[in-house]
Amino acid sequence: MQSIMTMGEILVEIMAERKGQSFRAPGPLAGPYASGAPAIFIDQVARLGHPAAIIGCVGDDDFGWLNIDRLRRDGVDTSAIAVCKGAVTGSAFVTYRDSGERDFIFNITNSASAQLQPEQVNQAVLKDCAHFHVMGSSLFSFRIIDAMKKAIEIVKAQGGTVSFDPNVRKEMLRIPEMREALAYILEFTDIFLPSGHEVTQLARSADEAGAIAEIFARGVREIVVKRGADGCSYFSADERIDLDALPVDVADPTGAGDCFGATFIACRRMGKTALQSLRYANAAGALAVASKGPMEGTSGFAGLDALLAQQPQHLRHAVMEG
Ligand code: ATP
Ligand code: MG
Repeated sequence: MQSIMTMGEILVEIMAERKGQSFRAPGPLAGPYASGAPAIFIDQVARLGHPAAIIGCVGDDDFGWLNIDRLRRDGVDTSAIAVCKGAVTGSAFVTYRDSGERDFIFNITNSASAQLQPEQVNQAVLKDCAHFHVMGSSLFSFRIIDAMKKAIEIVKAQGGTVSFDPNVRKEMLRIPEMREALAYILEFTDIFLPSGHEVTQLARSADEAGAIAEIFARGVREIVVKRGADGCSYFSADERIDLDALPVDVADPTGAGDCFGATFIACRRMGKTALQSLRYANAAGALAVASKGPMEGTSGFAGLDALLAQQPQHLRHAVMEG
């Protein structure tokens, strides 16, 4: 029992080449690139040399095999990826506004990713899992939510830990069953990895400090807040650390949160301190935005150490009293 595992959508991404390019007219495209938030996460875990596996579904098509080959090459155990006949691999088409904001055309809910079955999740598949990561973006059907709950229960029952990146669209929070599912997952979460605006989403409190206190009261042990170009913060019962983002040229923001989360979790599991893990995660997020393509910015420790060695780290570290 030593692997980090996750479950969910495995996609290709196809990107507009130029900023301001629209999909209402033909134009140059780049890709297909391997993608899907859980797939990017698990690829980054494997790049750090930690045992890693993903449960998911792809179609029996080139988009699916592109992902399987890529994940395998980077060291991910792909044996729990089902190749579904009769369904096509999911996809995301991305355009970039002049402001840098992204617009997506997704084919996920009608793709092989939606074919994930609770039957795919069982003790045999999860027997090596010491830590299970839940991506909120994966929870787009009730069948998948059931599969996710099953995975969490199995991993917890065998003494494993759980992390959760809410990563949900606002429209989903308006569905009462979805809010319930997210609250359920949070009850089992050891490490919570929200983006800044997501901290208060599942709490009663409207401010960050209040929401963090509430989430700790529910049993979460560590909270790491991702703040994009403003860096990141770490909270435990007795510690707070804030790091500025590392200065890099932004090529493509997709995948930063996934690489960041994967690096933090892998480093904690490898026994690194919260501060060391946060520094590595911050560097992994920076390298992710510096590369074009969602999974093209995953990195090993050599790349992370090289970036960190170039930068004096601006750090605020506080140990709480009491
Ligand atoms: P997404 O919008 O894809 O859900 P996210 O909100 O989960 O992303 P971000 O906060 O955008 O994740 O990025 C994760 C981490 O990556 C940040 O906390 C930071 O450490 C690093 N990072 C992100 N953007 C930049 C940037 N422009 N420059 C340097 N580092 C960055
Ligand atoms: Mg996110």
